[in-house]
Amino acid sequence: MNTSPPPTLRILSLGAGVQSTALLLLACEDVIPPFHAAIFADTGWEPKAVYEHLDRLADYAARHGIPVHRVSGGNIRNDALDPAHRFASMPLFVRNPDGSDGMARRQCTSEYKLKPIKQKTRELLGYVHPTPVPKGVYVETAIGISLDEIGRARDSDVRYMRNVFPLLDLKWTRRDCERYLRKRGWSAEKSACIGCPFHGNRQWRQLRDESPAEWADAVAFDAAIRNGSARANPQGQDLRGSMYLHRARVPLDEAPIDKVSRSEWLEDNQPSLDDFYHGEDLERAEQGDPDGCSPWTCRSGEAVA
Ligand code: SF4
Repeated sequence: MNTSPPPTLRILSLGAGVQSTALLLLACEDVIPPFHAAIFADTGWEPKAVYEHLDRLADYAARHGIPVHRVSGGNIRNDALDPAHRFASMPLFVRNPDGSDGMARRQCTSEYKLKPIKQKTRELLGYVHPTPVPKGVYVETAIGISLDEIGRARDSDVRYMRNVFPLLDLKWTRRDCERYLRKRGWSAEKSACIGCPFHGNRQWRQLRDESPAEWADAVAFDAAIRNGSARANPQGQDLRGSMYLHRARVPLDEAPIDKVSRSEWLEDNQPSLDDFYHGEDLERAEQGDPDGCSPWTCRSGEAVA
């Protein structure tokens, strides 16, 4: 018999992508139990389309009695370029001084998403840090993980939050969510920072072809972080190699983001994706990292601290 007390609050972790948008609409339509609130963690560097989607979503949810709280741990873009600011490292692709490849540690999700979500959760519970949250007081946090991503479902690492996955209970895949949104006149893209290194070529092309100003911003950022954080170098730290936003470890505006067929390659001798990647890597290069940026899991499979 389950003797655990009922949750004090039910909250949606709103990333504003396909799955969490579907969850919010499902709650508004009473298909799943309602949320007391939704929390969106803003890194300050999402595409304009995501902010517009979020505005519309927040209006709709408010009309159904669900407030959407926007929280922030700072502006990831500005912080990375500010020599006076501690750099919460992004998962940049690294070419080491010895020519080998590496990747920078991902601290950004924890810093800009998980931390502010936890802070807001405590505030909504009425126990702001460092006040301890009493035993038995907890938030049920709904996370938009669909059946095709079941391996990403994880428990929370704090006692006052318990993660639940309503899309798994409904046995919905990402496609089911997309269909559901479409029928109701909604759509949503993967939400992520404009210059997130987890982007696949599909997202980079979309940015370049549909949002030239945001693409130019990502290209400029990519050039600005080539030698690592703005803070590391004025402090005289040794360079740990060259950093890149694109997995090919070349400047973003030179990266092979257009899939070029072998015959085209033979014609004009451009580098093709196939020259960089094979099998699963090729799929990853095109679609982006399947783990992407979730506040709750990271690509290593470990919970983000
Ligand atoms: S979207 Fe990418 S860059 Fe932004 S916080 Fe997540 S992992 Fe970091």
